[in-house]
Amino acid sequence: MSDQTFYSGLQQKLDTLRSDGLFKPERVLASRQGAEVVAQDGRTLINMCANNYLGLAGDPETQQAAAAALEKYGYGLSSVRFICGTQTVHKELEAALSNFLGTEDTILYAAAFDANGGVFEPLFDENDAIISDALNHASIIDGVRLCKAARYRYANNDMADLEKQLIAATEAGKRHKIIVTDGVFSMDGTIAQLDKIVALAEQYGALTMIDECHASGFMGATGRGTHEHCGVIGKIDIITGTLGKALGGAMGGFTSGKKEVIETLRQKSRPYLFSNTLAPMIAGASLAVLERISKSTELRDRLMENTAYFRAEIERIGFTIKPGTHPVVPVMLFDAPVAQKFAARMFELGVLLSGFFYPVVPMGQARVRVQLSAAHTREQLDIVLKAFEQAGRELGIIKQQ
Ligand SMILES: *Cc1c(COP(=O)(O)O)cnc(C)c1O
Repeated sequence: MSDQTFYSGLQQKLDTLRSDGLFKPERVLASRQGAEVVAQDGRTLINMCANNYLGLAGDPETQQAAAAALEKYGYGLSSVRFICGTQTVHKELEAALSNFLGTEDTILYAAAFDANGGVFEPLFDENDAIISDALNHASIIDGVRLCKAARYRYANNDMADLEKQLIAATEAGKRHKIIVTDGVFSMDGTIAQLDKIVALAEQYGALTMIDECHASGFMGATGRGTHEHCGVIGKIDIITGTLGKALGGAMGGFTSGKKEVIETLRQKSRPYLFSNTLAPMIAGASLAVLERISKSTELRDRLMENTAYFRAEIERIGFTIKPGTHPVVPVMLFDAPVAQKFAARMFELGVLLSGFFYPVVPMGQARVRVQLSAAHTREQLDIVLKAFEQAGRELGIIKQQ
């Protein structure tokens, strides 16, 4: 406690974040997660900014499955997997995920951040090339940093640039090449063109990896993910994903693929070897979620209906959105202060959503991001659309009628 300049330096940086409008305050909820949440001050808000795509985070069935696993397997393992931290429920969940994703085997992690952080270093070295989309998630970027492979970056979703990087890696004589992309990019709701990526991978003899955090459970006709949506099930080498978004919403992550890959990760992946087992109640609840969404597509169908309705109505009112079909709907306001004021006004009107501005999104691309959920009722969406209309008129974003 003798170096005071350390602390004053930190305080200065925090003050700069605040004055630049980049400080991220935490919203405190006094209720469970859901279509409606209760704020700390007791106000009820309609929640339009959770990754709760299937509405399962606060769902009673999810909770009961967690409670049943808690009762049977206890609270936790106090161990890593390979010492004494593997229970039947973990093996069952790994098998269920492999079955759901159409892969051979799956390994669980405490988070998708760990899955991405621990996937590259055990599999690739300086003889190999990782070819990564420029907008890939921070956890992929960190995972790549921990690995000695050569790094190639291609412009977001740009297949011509991807091909250029594949040629460059081939000319550099790299042994293995892997193309890595988010299945869906969370800022724009952009869906990766996996059919084209797979075709390029076949042409250049590359492997493929997708991060399915914003896709597992609802993209594709039966919710298996972006690979189903793009018609390339069975053609992706490595799939990572989270149990903390659509698939329940607590926490946990996974990597799925061929058995040699998963077995290697069990032997060598550091976040798996040196971090505690996923809590059994989360494994049990995730297993129940997979069973539920494998039996019926009702939840993902409702999510997609809500998404189509909201996308059509928000444009009809006069807002500009990024076109697409994903439940992430970026409502473009372009100007950072306007986006900030807009989100604040929506909060007053009882709608929780988040504003994004530079440097999180490019300069001049400020927006509020709406995320639809299967839990939203049509009535709730209509209330949200009315609030958009009112705030939009007040701030001069849409024309008076
Ligand atoms: C949310 C997210 C992660 C991290 O998932 P956690 O399980 O919360 O660690 C990783 N990749 C992408 C693309 C994400 O959106």
